[in-house]
Amino acid sequence: MSSLFPALTDGPGERAALRFGPRTLTYGGLAGAAGALAGRLAGTGRVAVWATPELETAVAVTGALLAGVAAVPLNPRSGEKELAHILSDSAPSLVLAAPGAQLPPVLGALPRTDVDAFATGTVPEERAADGDPALVVYTSGTTGPPKGAVLPRRALATTLDALADAWQWTADDVLVHGLPLFHVHGLVLGVLGPLRRGGSVRHLGRFSPQGVARELNDGATMVFGVPTMYHRIAEALPGDPELAGALGRARLLVSGSAALPVHDHERIAAATGRRVIERYGMTETLMNTSVRADGEARAGTVGVPLPGVELRLVEEDGSEITGYDGESVGEIQVRGPHLFTEYLNRPDATAAAYTADGWFRTGDMAVREPDGYVRIVGRKATDLIKSGGYKIGAGEIENALLEHPGVREAAVTGEPDADLGERIVAWIVPAEPGTPPGTEELADHVARRLAPHKRPRVVRYLEALPRNDMGKIMKRALTGA
Ligand code: ATP
Ligand code: MG
Repeated sequence: MSSLFPALTDGPGERAALRFGPRTLTYGGLAGAAGALAGRLAGTGRVAVWATPELETAVAVTGALLAGVAAVPLNPRSGEKELAHILSDSAPSLVLAAPGAQLPPVLGALPRTDVDAFATGTVPEERAADGDPALVVYTSGTTGPPKGAVLPRRALATTLDALADAWQWTADDVLVHGLPLFHVHGLVLGVLGPLRRGGSVRHLGRFSPQGVARELNDGATMVFGVPTMYHRIAEALPGDPELAGALGRARLLVSGSAALPVHDHERIAAATGRRVIERYGMTETLMNTSVRADGEARAGTVGVPLPGVELRLVEEDGSEITGYDGESVGEIQVRGPHLFTEYLNRPDATAAAYTADGWFRTGDMAVREPDGYVRIVGRKATDLIKSGGYKIGAGEIENALLEHPGVREAAVTGEPDADLGERIVAWIVPAEPGTPPGTEELADHVARRLAPHKRPRVVRYLEALPRNDMGKIMKRALTGA
């Protein structure tokens, strides 16, 4: 196939490519470093990458892709048990790491190759085929143990070009990045995305609203974040007019990986005049839908299918929902060149993920609004509560609870109930731990905003919600499932 990164060889070498803290690489510098690494990797099997938020991680993955060698990003914050699982599952031939990185004992048996981010080699011709594996990315483990999704080169190119179309993303864009580099969001969109466009990325190392403001004031044009980051921004805005000004200058604020609470979306819009656009994707599918840069960003919606993505909503009996009424809930199923090839060593899980006619079952439930916008209701497994004959999505109740001034964080689950089948349970982190809002008050608040049958029956108070590295709420830790 053609090159994944034409800008490494075709564009002006002095253009900025990567900046991590004080360390930077131009396209010429990256071509030298990634080219040198590709030369060293030629002919090796899969490689693991110790994916710290550093320049070396970006060079390591780019070098592996140039060599046609599949990379397996490792989360440096994973425990030994999770790392051991990923290593035995993916069987890498070596691990790539930044020279100073301390690797845990579980990696001890693996040969280590230090990445030199300032080496000077030449970019080899990319010989790999479209269907060859480019990355093996482990899912976030939100609903069960992480599975290794094998992503072909075709999927990376397809999804990044589709996003470029939707977001009018060009070589002139400068991305502010504060996400980890071992998932699709931070690695594929946040690093490989700018490199494929010939644009640049500035990584904050550690996310902070002030870091985002600083970069936007210094010429950055786009921000990618997960909802917990936008929540922190929304909380900081009232006391920080400079942050509001900086965000107002951004060309594009994008959220993904989990649903952006409506309350945060609205607060940011009110303070900055900018609406965060949401896109929806998965490790297995890369990106499926997005609000387009020139489209209307409505809170709680994830936009329309990206170019090349076929998307349908399917009811429990297998029938497809036709006609967009904004109310009929079905599972999102997708088809297209952006999909993964398989779960590594899991033919059972791979087969179960597809319908007989070749559609990938996302496990996410949604409705389509009359103009075609997709609105995600939640995950089939954890977010759909069957109570009193109704099917109720956890998301809208969470959004309603978050509008209560006494609620800082909220998660909604169902639990067995003799009368109702399931009853609605609200897990609340109160804004003021000493004076939490009571069950009656919260139930009435939800009933007034939504409908009486959506009122939580039980409220449980927590100091914090269990979240994973991407800030996603781990509902199975709440319910013990
Ligand atoms: P696991 O598959 O291991 O349980 P996970 O599904 O969280 O974990 P990812 O592949 O990282 O792993 O996340 C994909 C999921 O994230 C989607 O299936 C969807 O539920 C959720 N998601 C992503 N973007 C959005 C969004 N914009 N709005 C709502 N949900 C989203
Ligand atoms: Mg998943």
